[in-house]
Amino acid sequence: MATIFEKVSVLQERISAYRIQGNSVGFVPTMGALHEGHLSLVRQSMRENDHTIVSIFVNPTQFNDKNDLLHYPRTITQDLAQLDTVGSTDVFIPNVQEIYPNGTEKDGDPDLGGLDITMEGASRPGHFKGMAQVVRRLLDIVTPDRLYMGQKDFQQFTIVQYMIQKHRLPVQLVRCPIVREPGGLAMSSRNVRLSAAVRTRAALIFEVLNEVKERSEEMDVKSLENFALRRLSVAPFEPEYFSIVDGRTLEPVKNMDQTAFVVACTAVRAEGLRLIDNIIIREEI
Ligand code: AMP
Repeated sequence: MATIFEKVSVLQERISAYRIQGNSVGFVPTMGALHEGHLSLVRQSMRENDHTIVSIFVNPTQFNDKNDLLHYPRTITQDLAQLDTVGSTDVFIPNVQEIYPNGTEKDGDPDLGGLDITMEGASRPGHFKGMAQVVRRLLDIVTPDRLYMGQKDFQQFTIVQYMIQKHRLPVQLVRCPIVREPGGLAMSSRNVRLSAAVRTRAALIFEVLNEVKERSEEMDVKSLENFALRRLSVAPFEPEYFSIVDGRTLEPVKNMDQTAFVVACTAVRAEGLRLIDNIIIREEI
């Protein structure tokens, strides 16, 4: 059963009690409209911690497009029902005032190592600064042992990792695999805004990512990116970028052997939505 918390102070009392008992806390921040992708993070946290806290907060400061904020799906009743199927979690559902008592102005200009400028950052100015702001605020409130985030939002994950390392925040960041719809489209809360036909056809994105990975040993990076852009340029799909990058710095790689961590990231427009996806081509630890 989910226990709901709306106030920071009440949630923190609960967390203090866990700490006194010597229990570990896993944290899964979300914006709600939960799907299997979110639930996989919650399950992983439940396996690895004594207690799991899920937050549901549609963070206004990370929406550069006010229309997107207005239309962001809000399905709190279904979200709680889905969390109940997973087990016992604490669900933090604050209002905007609770998270931003001093207003939603961005605090200063956080150093995100330039990771926020490329790819998603290029078409969503300020998005990652707003995201980093709320993650930092939520981490300060929840002080979890482990933070669970999806590989689906690879750039977001990399920026949070940078922020944790830079500020030496005492939390372990866990990267969770991408959960996909049966056809292959990466699950996303915004997918409900696609028509059924396009939602099925959007499996093309995962197909192309796989083709790129398969050909990564025989083709050079530029040719692979061009190949992918051509394959994705089929109406109603319109690729915005297809970038093969160093998974740590997000800088474009010139060849596949340049770094031990290579990721192909893409954003594709369809029916007024941006669909993002990625595949790890190489990760040597
Ligand atoms: P959101 O509610 O979209 O802000 O996402 C909350 C968390 O769920 C983020 O860490 C996302 O990366 C993760 N997530 C969203 N979609 C998926 C998915 N299809 N597979 C795995 N994780 C996901």
